[in-house]
Amino acid sequence: MNLIESLARAPSHAMLVVGATAAQFAKRFVQHLFCPQECEKCPHCTKLAHGTHPDLTWVSKAGKRIGIDQVRELQQKALYPPLEAPKKIYVIESVEDLSLEAANSLLKILEAPPRYVIFILLAKSTNILPTILSRCRIIKLPTLPRSQIEKLLRERSLSDSEIEALLELTKGALPDEPLIEAVRKFIPQRPALQQQFAKLPDNDLWGALTEKDLFVRREAQIELLRRLGSYTSAQVLALAAVLSKCDPEELEFFIREALYALRQLASAEPAKIQAVYALETAPWKLQRNANVQLLVESLLFMLRESASGLSAP
Ligand SMILES: [Zn+2]
Repeated sequence: MNLIESLARAPSHAMLVVGATAAQFAKRFVQHLFCPQECEKCPHCTKLAHGTHPDLTWVSKAGKRIGIDQVRELQQKALYPPLEAPKKIYVIESVEDLSLEAANSLLKILEAPPRYVIFILLAKSTNILPTILSRCRIIKLPTLPRSQIEKLLRERSLSDSEIEALLELTKGALPDEPLIEAVRKFIPQRPALQQQFAKLPDNDLWGALTEKDLFVRREAQIELLRRLGSYTSAQVLALAAVLSKCDPEELEFFIREALYALRQLASAEPAKIQAVYALETAPWKLQRNANVQLLVESLLFMLRESASGLSAP
C-alpha cells in the first residue's frame, strides 16, 4: 500500500504536506479519496480534473497573502456538509502566505473542525508557525538527490543542456513528461532564438495588449493565450524575457492566472485537460535562487503547446 492509499484509509482532519511536489500530492490524494480507482471517468474524477468539484476548495493567496477574509469565508462554508463526496476538502496552497491574523483564525477551526472536513495545508518547509504544526499530521515528501534524478534523465538520452535545464526547473522532484517534452523542444533552439528575439518589433508580441494588462485583467490572460498559440518560438522567448524581469509578485499572479485562463479555454476540449493538469502541478512556485528566465520560458513553451488549436470558450 502506498502513502496515498494508507492516508486515504484513515484520513486525518488536518494534514501538512511539505515538499516541492506538495500540490501534486494533494491533488492525487483528493482524487483517491473521492474515487479509490482514480478512474478518470466518473463524475468525481471529471469534476476534479475540470476544477469544478463542489467539495474541494483550493485556497490560494489573493494579492500578497492569504487574508483573514478568505479564512472567515472558509469557516462559514465549512459548516455545511459535503454535497457529493464523503468529505469536504480545503487545500491551503501555501501556509507561508497566511497572514498572522488568518493563521490564528485558521487555528481555531483546525482545533475542532466539523467531522466531514479535511484540511490539507501545503508548505515548502516545516519552518512555519509551531501552533499550526502541532495541530497537523505532517507528511514530508521525499526529494530525490540531484545525482539520482540526473541518472534517470541520462537514461532518456537527453543532452547535457537539457538535463541541466530540467534539474534547475524541478529542484529535487522528477520532472513529468510534458515538462521533459517542452525542454526537449526548446532548449536546443534556445541560443539561436535568443539572437533573433532581440530584433522583434514590440507590436508583434502584444497586439492590442499592454504588458501591464497581464497583471490586472483576467481577460487579458485569455487574450494572450489565444495569441500565444500562434507565436513563433522567438516571440515566446521575447515574451519570457519581458515577464522574467517583472516583480516576483506580478509574475506569480501571471502564472496563476494564465493557468486559470488555460483551464477555462480547455474546458470545452477534454483532450486538453490532461495537459492543463500537468502544467498546474509542475513546480512553478518561484523559489529562491530559481532561474526565473528559464522557468518562464519553459512555462510559456508549454502554454503555447496547450493553447494552440484551442477555440473560444
Ligand atoms: Zn473516478
